[in-house]
Amino acid sequence: MTITDEKFLRIRISRREDFAPDLWMIRVHAAAEFKFIPGQYATLGIEHEGKRIERPYSIVSSPSESEIEFFFELVPEGALTPRLHKLQVGSELFMRKLPKGRFTLDTESGRKHHLLVSTVTGVAPFVSFIRTLAEDWREGRFDGSHQLYLLNGASRPWEFGYKEELTRFSAELPWFKYVPTVSRPWDHADWPGEIGRADDILRKYADQWQLGPTNTTAYLCGHPDMIANSKAILKRRGFLDRTAIKEEIYWIPPK
Ligand SMILES: Cc1cc2nc3c(=O)[nH]c(=O)nc-3n(C[C@H](O)[C@H](O)[C@H](O)COP(=O)(O)OP(=O)(O)OC[C@H]3O[C@@H](n4cnc5c(N)ncnc54)[C@H](O)[C@@H]3O)c2cc1C
Repeated sequence: MTITDEKFLRIRISRREDFAPDLWMIRVHAAAEFKFIPGQYATLGIEHEGKRIERPYSIVSSPSESEIEFFFELVPEGALTPRLHKLQVGSELFMRKLPKGRFTLDTESGRKHHLLVSTVTGVAPFVSFIRTLAEDWREGRFDGSHQLYLLNGASRPWEFGYKEELTRFSAELPWFKYVPTVSRPWDHADWPGEIGRADDILRKYADQWQLGPTNTTAYLCGHPDMIANSKAILKRRGFLDRTAIKEEIYWIPPK
């Protein structure tokens, strides 16, 4: 089977950075224009033995960047990620021409605070939000009237692919706060930050930043357990409106 040009773009890897043996990012050149909104995902794939294997991946980059960026976690028994993991700079894969998803920044509801909660690669759409708003801020298109608060959970400190960039943004941007948290700190006595899963520290930071259902939209992205736990916590805090919690569940846990 050959991939037709109708629905797919060929993309070529222009850069790859490995953060850990099972976590890496790539940047790609698309052979044609690819328009998306921060928070959306692309469908990436490869051909293998005459079959197409494709999966959705959140876009890390901002629409204004000349390349498109993705952040992957290797699932050793998975169908696609072991194959993606072998691709190096210069390798080609394909991407569906149409981006998808509604996991975008809520600028309609009137709630000006945005609580972003993620596990590992689930930070991807939030990096896209922040890169985009940071550029808009620098160029006078965004007045800082929306405040973004990012909790980013991982098991170990090296799993935060974007920690340096996000820490720098949080130091520079008055409308952005960033808290990485590690749930297995015992091997890392030098870890200076928060300890626990993202959902463990959710209450503390929601209190500290005064984020409630009337002023805040919550966005939950990544691990299905984190999303279920966070949703339950937020609902108990009054986030009952259907539009008050957005979620992007990366996989369905086996029963
Ligand atoms: C909207 C959306 C956006 C996504 N964005 C990203 C992204 O930015 N980066 C990224 O790495 N992934 C992302 N994912 C997950 C991605 O689509 C694939 O599911 C993942 O890469 C595994 O693909 P695979 O073919 O290797 O494994 P599969 O063959 O699809 O899965 C094998 C088994 O592993 C489970 N599984 C899948 N992913 C994980 C995981 N991370 N940890 C543990 N178990 C898992 C599956 O439920 C299944 O039981 C996203 C998913 C969705 C729905």
